[in-house]
Amino acid sequence: MSASETSKQGHERYDVVVVGAGFAGMYMLHRLRDLGFSVRVYEQGGGVGGTWYWNRYPGARCDVESMQYSYSFSDDLQQEWDWSERYAPQPEILKYANHVADRFGLRVDIQFNTRVDRAAFDEAENIWRVTTSDGKTIITRFVVLATGCLSNARMPDINGLESFEGPVYHTGNWPHEPVDFTGLRVGLIGTGSSGIQSTPVIAEQAKHLTVFQRTANFSIPARNAKLTPEERQAFREKYPEVRHFARWEARNGIYTELPDRGALDDGANERRSKYEGRWQRGGLTFMSVYNDLAMSRPANDTAAEFVRGKIAEIVADPKAAALLQPRSHPIGTKRICIDTDYFATFNRDNVTLVDIKSSPIEEILPHGLRTATATYELDALVLATGFDAMTGSVAKIDIGGRNGVSLNQKWSEGPKTYLGLMTAGFPNLFIITGPGSPSVLSNMIVSIEQHVDWIADCLGHLRSNGLEVMEADTSAEEKWVAHVNEVAHGTLYPQANSWYMGANVPGKPRIFMPYIGGVGVYRQICTDVAAKGYEGFVLTAAEQERAAAVF
Ligand code: NAP
Repeated sequence: MSASETSKQGHERYDVVVVGAGFAGMYMLHRLRDLGFSVRVYEQGGGVGGTWYWNRYPGARCDVESMQYSYSFSDDLQQEWDWSERYAPQPEILKYANHVADRFGLRVDIQFNTRVDRAAFDEAENIWRVTTSDGKTIITRFVVLATGCLSNARMPDINGLESFEGPVYHTGNWPHEPVDFTGLRVGLIGTGSSGIQSTPVIAEQAKHLTVFQRTANFSIPARNAKLTPEERQAFREKYPEVRHFARWEARNGIYTELPDRGALDDGANERRSKYEGRWQRGGLTFMSVYNDLAMSRPANDTAAEFVRGKIAEIVADPKAAALLQPRSHPIGTKRICIDTDYFATFNRDNVTLVDIKSSPIEEILPHGLRTATATYELDALVLATGFDAMTGSVAKIDIGGRNGVSLNQKWSEGPKTYLGLMTAGFPNLFIITGPGSPSVLSNMIVSIEQHVDWIADCLGHLRSNGLEVMEADTSAEEKWVAHVNEVAHGTLYPQANSWYMGANVPGKPRIFMPYIGGVGVYRQICTDVAAKGYEGFVLTAAEQERAAAVF
C-alpha cells in the first residue's frame, strides 16, 4: 500500500492523485506504486473497469479483438488469462479488469463511489488541492486524469423525454440489474456502435423493436467466434511480435498486415476480391486493406460502395436497405462499427426502421414518440445517443490552473494540449489519452500503456532531478495543436460530422480532437521529447529548502 501523509490542516496528502479506475487509472496506479510514489485513485463507479463498468447494454463487446485488447505490461498476465471469444463480451472484459485489480493488489489504493469535483493549483505551494464528492480536500503534487474518452454519456435534447412513463435506458449508463424487454415495444434511438451492437440482441427479446435512425453508419461483420485453446496458444507465442507491431508499426495499434498499395492500384475485380476477403474475415482491419482509404476520396468511395452493396444484398426490403446505406460521410471517417447480424435484423418481422432524418422526432410522449409524420406506441426507450467524447469527463471537473483560469475557460474554443499529455497553464496535471494524442483512433490499451509509461518515467525523472513543477510550454503547445490540425486536414476525417470533431454535441467547438499521425509516429515523438530532457515542457527545480520534502 502506498504511504500517504497528512498535512497540518489534517488533509490527506499524496504524491499523485489519479482520477478514474478504468484501464488507464489502474495501470497508472500500478506503475507509480512500483516506483515508490504514494498514490490515491478516485473512482466514481462502484468498481474498476471504467467504460466497461458503465456500458453494460445488451450485445456490448469490444471492437478490437480480445487477444489484443488486453494489457501487455505483464507477460505472466497475458499468458495466464483465457479470453473465451474473438471479441470479448463486456462482462468478460469487466471480469478481466477485476482480475487485474486483484492480481496486482490495486483496490487498496482506490476509493470507489467518489467523484473528483474540483482540482485547484496552488501557485504559492506548487500543489494541487483536490476536492472529492465525500467532502474531503486532498493535497497532491501531481494529478493524472484517467477519466476516459467515452465516459460521459450524453442524453439527447428531445422534447418531452422526461414525460415518458416507461423505463428509459442509456447504453452508456446501463443498469447493473438485468433488463428484460420480453413482451415490450422498444424504441431505440441512435445507430452508432452502441445502437448497432444492441439492436440485434434487443430484437431477439422484444415484442417489437423500432429503430430510429438519423444517420446511417458503416458496419462490418465481427465474425465473432469462440477462441480455441490452439488459437489462444498460437497468439500467446507470438505476443512479442504482436505487441511490438501494435506499438510501432500499426497506425491504429492493431496487429494486421500492412497494405502495400492504394485502392486504385488494383483493378476492379482484384479490389472487389480483396474487400470480399476482409468482409469475410470481419472486423476493423477491413479499413487497412489499402493504404489510402483515409486520404483519397476516390479510393474511399470504392470501399464505401462495396459496403453499400453488401447492405443491399443482406436487407430484403429495398426501402430499408437504401435507408441503411450510409451516404453522409466517407467510410471510416466516423468510427466504423463492428456488428453481429445488424443489417439482417431488419429482415425480422418484429423490427421497424424509421428514418428520423427526413421526419425528425418532434416529441416523446408518455407512451411513445411522435415524429413529424407518425406516432409510435412504445413501452421502453433505449438511448444509444453517444457521449460528450474526449473532453466531456474532464469538463465535469472544475479544474483551476495558474492565474485562476479554469480548464473549461481555456478549452472553450476547443481543447489545446501539448502531445495530448499536458495543457499549458496547468502544471503537474497529466491527461491519459487526451485530445491531441492518438487515443480513440487506436486500440485504446496500446495508447493507454504508452501514456502511462511515459508519465511514470517522467515523474521518476522529476524526482531524481529534484524537479518540482512540470508544465507544457505555450509555444510548444501551439505548434502541436497546429500539427494535429494540419495532419487531420490532410485526411478525409474532417468531412464527417463525427464525435471526433465534437459535432455530436450542440455548441461544442468543431475541432478534430485526436492525433491522426499514427501510434508509432506519435510514440517516437514522445520518446524523443523525453530523450531531449522533455523538450517543449518547462521543468522547474524545487526550492532548495523544500527539495528534500518534495516526495
Ligand atoms: P455515437 O457513435 O456518437 O452514436 C450516437 C448515435 O445517436 C448516432 O446515430 C446519432 O445520430 C444518434 N443521436 C444522437 N443524438 C440524437 C438525437 N438527439 N436524435 C436522434 N439521434 C441522435 O455513440 P455510440 O454508438 O455510443 O458510440 C460512440 C463510440 O464509442 C464509438 O464510436 C466507439 O468508439 C465506442 N464504442 C465502441 C464499441 C465497441 O468497441 N464495439 C461499442 C460502443 C461504442 P447522428 O449520427 O445523426 O448524430
